[in-house]
Amino acid sequence: MDDQPIPIEPVAPVQRDTLQAQVRWGERVVTVGGGAPVRVQSMTNTDTVDAIGTAIQIKELALAGSELVRLTVNTPEAAAAVPYIREQLDRMGIDVPLIGDFHYNGHRLLTEVPACAEALSKYRINPGNVGKGDKRDKQFGQMVEAAIRWNKPVRIGVNWGSLDQELLAGMMDENSRRRTPWDAKSVMYEALITSAIESARRAEDIGLPAHQILLSCKVSGVQDLISVYRALAQRCKYALHLGLTEAGMGTKGTVASAAALGILLQDGIGDTIRVSLTPQPGEARTQEVVIASEILQSLGLRSFVPSVTACPGCGRTTSTTFQELTKEIDDFLRAQMPVWRARYPGVEKMKVAVMGCIVNGPGESKHADIGISLPGTGEAPAAPVYIDGEKSVTLRGDNIAQDFRALVENYIEKRFGAAATA
Ligand code: SF4
Repeated sequence: MDDQPIPIEPVAPVQRDTLQAQVRWGERVVTVGGGAPVRVQSMTNTDTVDAIGTAIQIKELALAGSELVRLTVNTPEAAAAVPYIREQLDRMGIDVPLIGDFHYNGHRLLTEVPACAEALSKYRINPGNVGKGDKRDKQFGQMVEAAIRWNKPVRIGVNWGSLDQELLAGMMDENSRRRTPWDAKSVMYEALITSAIESARRAEDIGLPAHQILLSCKVSGVQDLISVYRALAQRCKYALHLGLTEAGMGTKGTVASAAALGILLQDGIGDTIRVSLTPQPGEARTQEVVIASEILQSLGLRSFVPSVTACPGCGRTTSTTFQELTKEIDDFLRAQMPVWRARYPGVEKMKVAVMGCIVNGPGESKHADIGISLPGTGEAPAAPVYIDGEKSVTLRGDNIAQDFRALVENYIEKRFGAAATA
């Protein structure tokens, strides 16, 4: 028997072949699907009629890294505010494309407020909420016609909380006539996918190009989302918007989104993602962008900010120094990114390590671009710093945090600054 060890193959996310949508504003083109990087998007929670408040929140979301921002367009007043919001953003130099979220009256708003239809870069249509009976096809058609007229892509966004009830009832009836009926969950999965794909085909029949159609089928259970998106990805080539709807608050929403999206993204499923996090009281709306970006970065799909590797701490490090330093460095790197993105190309791939003691500290620090190994309990009060795998300097005294920050800044300037790239 051949007992030679077989090399362990590194795994990586699969690339799925999808059509590519182009979401435009001015000179900015955000491609979605068709080999483009998986895009981060977010949604405002301001009243759209409050144009200034909404423009400020969109700016914050864009600066946090959201590449597309969706906003509610629910009334004629909200539709009238959209061009004004767009204008405010343009004035601030924020060219992030805006997506209008329509339910019930989108056909009227997109037709009666053409400036809104024009100022938006993409429309979201929920086929479960476009009207009942014979009005449904007509009103859906009016929205698609607006997209064709203004040359905008559309997301056909199905949600199990607002699934087309007529379609579901019909599929339930059909199921009851099966010799071996499916369970209710399978029928619901099928109804979600059918609603999305049939609506997309209808939009194509009206004249919307297939590549300008994105689909989503959002549910709030992790296993349900995985089941639905795996089937959806098998059945169509449209670019997919991926997200767990009503993910919840805090740790629960974060973990559920990361678990569901992580599994699907590893399979190449999902061309743009949104984390539908309920903000904790006082929490910034930008948290959903941070989490979405972290999911993509932790899977190795994108790089947004330098990553900070830190140990969890244990009985060997009883002071809070390394926790404070880790937080300070992480906050510092994130806060600088809006400026650094342009000034230091490539800095988002940098790795920083902040470690708590000698056990793993030097080793982990050597794997990072720049790392510090803080003294654990009972160790000499010295913190060796490693740069590009080599021990560079040992910090001592009360200003270790400031000194390390200065070393990080110096490293970034040298490696990613204009002099380095000249
Ligand atoms: S590096 Fe040291 S302090 Fe950190 S978890 Fe490991 S043993 Fe504990």
